[in-house]
Amino acid sequence: MRAIKSVTQSYAPSRRIMDFMDIFTSIMNDAIDVAIKKNLTSEGSISREIYPLVKDLPIPSYYIPPAITKATAMVKNYRKSVRREEMRAKQKKNGGSKPKRKPRNIKIPHVDRRMLASHYGFRIKDDNMIIPASTEKYGREHETIRLNRHVSSLINRNGIHARSFTLTPHMLSISIERIPETIECDSTAGIDRNLRNVTVGNELHQESYDLSEIVRIKQRYRNRASHPMRNDRRIQEKIREKYGRRERNRTNAILHDKSKEIVNACISYREEPVLEDIRHINRMTYRGDRTGPGHRHLMHSAFPYGRLASMIKYKAEWEGLPVIQLTRQETYGTSSRCSECGSLTRKSGRMLHCESCDIWINRDINACISQAKRGRTRLVRSLLREKGPPVEAVNQFKDGEQMAGSHIPSTGS
Ligand SMILES: [Zn+2]
Repeated sequence: MRAIKSVTQSYAPSRRIMDFMDIFTSIMNDAIDVAIKKNLTSEGSISREIYPLVKDLPIPSYYIPPAITKATAMVKNYRKSVRREEMRAKQKKNGGSKPKRKPRNIKIPHVDRRMLASHYGFRIKDDNMIIPASTEKYGREHETIRLNRHVSSLINRNGIHARSFTLTPHMLSISIERIPETIECDSTAGIDRNLRNVTVGNELHQESYDLSEIVRIKQRYRNRASHPMRNDRRIQEKIREKYGRRERNRTNAILHDKSKEIVNACISYREEPVLEDIRHINRMTYRGDRTGPGHRHLMHSAFPYGRLASMIKYKAEWEGLPVIQLTRQETYGTSSRCSECGSLTRKSGRMLHCESCDIWINRDINACISQAKRGRTRLVRSLLREKGPPVEAVNQFKDGEQMAGSHIPSTGS
């Protein structure tokens, strides 16, 4: 399995690159317009229409197909969301269940941000990325962008291959690929989300990762956004954008750190992380459940579990660590049922009491143990499929037989 991730750094674009970006963006927008006007869907049909119009623009030909590819993807997404909204409207007309929100007006996509991207014609040489810049056919001119130490050390490592790059006026992003060796695991670790922490572990060990800082940041920015200082819509918008960006940067930094810690811990224990299906979270609280909008906001969006999960996923894949994603059915009841016997528990504060086992257990620990167990049934199944029963289990079984065999005659005699 190959793993893909992207690395970014800041850089200062040259005048020429800025011009290419303008043209690239306009090609994208033209392609989107043509595709929608003429009702085209495939990349081939769109580029047959658009290529003759743009082939003489002062931009290296390397950048034209990627612009059309990106535009095609945007049109595809647009059509998909239009279809979804149409379905929603139809459901309403047929007297189906009351829709939760009004159908949205889907805007025709348009690229405002300047950018330049390509997946071919570029190469990495030591600390530099060299990209084509000749506007003539067979021209050999190029632009050199200096990579920072972090990016160049990562990209020049053995077995890493740069797939494509994207430039914006401030950022360079390179998508890199690697084929890691799969880490063989013999156990699993459940990852249980809570409002302010994440608990990772199984029956043998559990660890709690504090993420309360994220909730604090979210609350702080939410308060700020809801009490605008300036009485001007446009300026309010600007301020909101700025705070949003800052909030994202700060929470992402924390999430990157924690997800890295979690993946490293899983690797050192040789345990596959088990992720739950979190769609049920949004149903745990609802309007009118007497918890209030503040609490609902916290549960629904203040803890970016989806982002944490996707970071754990791609970081694990990058290292060759398989990840188990539970289905919704498999996730059901992980937090309310006893991890030992599966019967319903009574809760008191953060503790759960199982009557049939007569034990008290912390609910976070209980949840991550149940998740680890449910993931393990899947792991065992896949191991069995791959290479028959695991050697250890067979050995244990034989030992048991021998013991029983040697035991019975000795009592009999
Ligand atoms: Zn129990």
